[in-house]
Amino acid sequence: MTKKLFIKTYGCQMNVYDSVRMADVLAPLGYRPTEQADDADMIILNTCHIREKAAEKVYSELGRLRQLQEKRTQEGGRLLLGVAGCVAQAEGEEMLRRAPQVDLVFGPQTYHRLPEMVTRVLGRVSGASGLVDTDFPAESKFDALPEEAASQGAAAFLTIQEGCDKFCTFCVVPYTRGAEFSRPVSSLLDEAKKMVATGAAEITLLGQNVNAFHGEGPDGKTWGLGRLLRALAEIDGLARLRYTTSHPRDMDDELIEAHRDLGVLMPFLHLPVQSGSDRILDAMNRRHTAEDYLRIIDRLRGARPDIALSSDFIVGFPGERDQDFADTLKLVTEVGYAQAYSFKYSPRPGTPAAAVEDQVDETVKAERLAMLQQLLNAQQLAFNQGSVGRVVPLLLERKGKFPGQLVGRSPHMQSVHVQAPDRLLGKIVQVEIEGAHANSLSGRVQTDIFTSDHDMAAPSREIRTA
Ligand code: SF4
Repeated sequence: MTKKLFIKTYGCQMNVYDSVRMADVLAPLGYRPTEQADDADMIILNTCHIREKAAEKVYSELGRLRQLQEKRTQEGGRLLLGVAGCVAQAEGEEMLRRAPQVDLVFGPQTYHRLPEMVTRVLGRVSGASGLVDTDFPAESKFDALPEEAASQGAAAFLTIQEGCDKFCTFCVVPYTRGAEFSRPVSSLLDEAKKMVATGAAEITLLGQNVNAFHGEGPDGKTWGLGRLLRALAEIDGLARLRYTTSHPRDMDDELIEAHRDLGVLMPFLHLPVQSGSDRILDAMNRRHTAEDYLRIIDRLRGARPDIALSSDFIVGFPGERDQDFADTLKLVTEVGYAQAYSFKYSPRPGTPAAAVEDQVDETVKAERLAMLQQLLNAQQLAFNQGSVGRVVPLLLERKGKFPGQLVGRSPHMQSVHVQAPDRLLGKIVQVEIEGAHANSLSGRVQTDIFTSDHDMAAPSREIRTA
């Protein structure tokens, strides 16, 4: 019998990928995705722990869902509630104590066991206490997952690596996602080929620390990300490759050379630096200096002169002085970013930085963030304005807000709005950029050179981690 599954996804693209795979895993039990929480037989909140007060927000949502669950029970039905992702991993049993209406609590590494968990829960009487599975199992979930049932569309995501061994002092990922794990190359190539066969023109490789990838190659040797990209670039019909999120320490020669050699590897890189101060980078346990980072940027630009850069910044990290913040502004000025994400530091329970006494005053943090964002916004606008008058290949990904409008991504990850018929969705077209704004561009499709499917190979999304 068909049952309805509603998954609400928070956070990064890795969670989006995991949600798609959870639906695949549950399909043999008769669950089919629905867009409506109200008539679902099972609701899963796939959570993220990166934002401030993430757990509290999940508990509030569970409070609202409790009413829906109670209503269903009064009507003689049953609504299963599951919580997945990093908040589930971090909270574990505590979640059942605070939200006893939850049936399933499971982490990012155990969702391949969902059929077994759901069967066990359904075998219990309604109201029995829920199940918790937040192991870091020895078996890889990827070996147990079924093939992807549905196409992700023209811009697909492929998780190649999970977890992190770097232990930056502000970050929860090593605790919630576990140690670094890389998938074998052959299974990644198979999955990527299937994605292309079902309509993907662009694949973004995902990982919390994606360029730490060290998967087993078909030759039995360990392959790095650069070598994997070369193999993926050979796939017929794949027009674009991206990867995110990277750590500066893992930008090795092979990867930088891939940027030089592979036309399908888009000229855009999100490479978080977090701070421009060596003192703060050390306190963050980033294991590189500002100078190291700038050298990597130089080498990337040497390899791919048109590469555009993005980064993450944390301002007001414990112990950050005026001079440290000035060093961050200096680094931003020196690099010149096409876009960036910046945040005030906020402590994450259980991380070393949260226990440091020398926390920065909130007013100072806010002032510094405003200054940094002013600079970054000016850089982003200047970068976008530099695109006006150019003709760029655009992958049309979705409909816009207005009738007849489609939205696509440029090679530099800019969002571009155009007037175009729906039949061009999923296609790559050449677009002349006519207008530039802070966060997007507008352009005109060059109607005489519409391309068929994905034949316009040309020389997005936060994971908020590496
Ligand atoms: S910020 Fe990135 S590199 Fe640092 S611990 Fe978190 S995931 Fe790992």
